[in-house]
Amino acid sequence: MRAKTTAKTPASPMRPALAERKRVSVLGATGSVGASTLDLIGRAPGAFEIVALTAHGNVDTLAELALRHRAKLAVVADAGAYGALKQRLQGSGIATAAGPSGLIEAALLPADCVMAAIVGAAGLHPTMAAVTQGRRVALANKECLVSAGEIFLEAVSQSGAELVPVDSEHSAVFQAIAGADPAGIERIVLTASGGPFRTFSLEQLQRVTPEQALRHPNWSMGRKITVDSATLMNKGLELIEAYHLFSVGPDRLEVVVHPQSIVHALVAYCDGAMLAQLSSPDMRTPIALSLAWPRRMPTPTKRMDLVELGQLTFERPDETRFPALRVARQALRQGGMAPAVLNAANEVAVDAFLAGRLGFLQIAQLVAETLERASARGLTGKAPDLAAVLATDASARQLAREVLAAGALAASSWR
Ligand code: NAD
Ligand code: MG
Repeated sequence: MRAKTTAKTPASPMRPALAERKRVSVLGATGSVGASTLDLIGRAPGAFEIVALTAHGNVDTLAELALRHRAKLAVVADAGAYGALKQRLQGSGIATAAGPSGLIEAALLPADCVMAAIVGAAGLHPTMAAVTQGRRVALANKECLVSAGEIFLEAVSQSGAELVPVDSEHSAVFQAIAGADPAGIERIVLTASGGPFRTFSLEQLQRVTPEQALRHPNWSMGRKITVDSATLMNKGLELIEAYHLFSVGPDRLEVVVHPQSIVHALVAYCDGAMLAQLSSPDMRTPIALSLAWPRRMPTPTKRMDLVELGQLTFERPDETRFPALRVARQALRQGGMAPAVLNAANEVAVDAFLAGRLGFLQIAQLVAETLERASARGLTGKAPDLAAVLATDASARQLAREVLAAGALAASSWR
């Protein structure tokens, strides 16, 4: 005899329904993370409603995205591009705004989830504004935690906002510790692909060009983070990010190089167990998690065939060839505003490298030198508020430009 089925047909495991339509704003909609977020949203008709989209100056793409996703508000950070945006969206019913106040307006519009995907320190104010809403913030912008970790987390706890990390390693840790008692965590291991120059000698590294550095073997990302991945500064910034997100001391945070980028992070527990999260290197997996958590939503990420993958390998990072990791660790130990100085100097260094004004190995040198000078000038103390962080950020950029202009770094021969 068959049992009577009274329950509704269960949702197909491939298409689990999201609880209800979610209102989402995307800060940095035209970037790599922004585009992946909107790609996923476009694949889930009816599941999401777009509230606000922002971009720096790419009006054509922003307007096209705003129209396609029927956004309520489109914001261009570069006030000079406002006229063009208004013209492009005339008669569409989509509101427009520009400049820093426009970004804040976008962050404050009621939404169930704000994707914080502006690159660099420019994302600090808008992300902080999103936090004050007390809803979910999907955090891609790592600079918020690196430069203003304590202040940022204090704002999160005051507003009751829910922070879900988007960075793939932190998303992996988030999943591996879900529901666990933090007292049982022994250490956290972040993996790094090692970037395009993993096997390069110091001599070869001296001659690396921006074009080579922009060709990441596994991940497709924005230009700045791609260069950071090549120097391993990205992993350094991620150590600082992990320190704030998971309250684990610097000595219990590790990095291992894992060239296949399949295992994104591991959490080791006091009973000897280690939990890892694996997925093909596609940001749509952690982005989907940040949108749907605690549910799951489907993504087109390539499914892994472990037998086809065959081997997953792990190596210790070489801090002689990749000194950025050591410099970042030093800033983490130093605390206060040292990480903010590190981040600001790194942004100046990466810009200079991409413009052909700085060699690859000099990126970490410029950051280390700026950090040293900033510490000597008393710039790395504890920050009372976000304004102080931004002032330090500006001073550190100025210092870094001075070091750059003085040509005080060892010569590089990539040109
Ligand atoms: P991106 O350069 O591709 O895009 C950045 C976005 O920010 C764009 O929409 C751009 O218009 C906007 N923007 C740039 N400068 C701005 C400014 N001054 N004011 C306002 N908006 C501005 O960057 P991305 O690779 O998408 O990275 C975004 C953030 O996510 C970064 O903090 C990065 O570290 C982090 N992240 C990215 C990835 C990735 O795979 N791309 C992975 C992990 C973390
Ligand atoms: Mg990452």
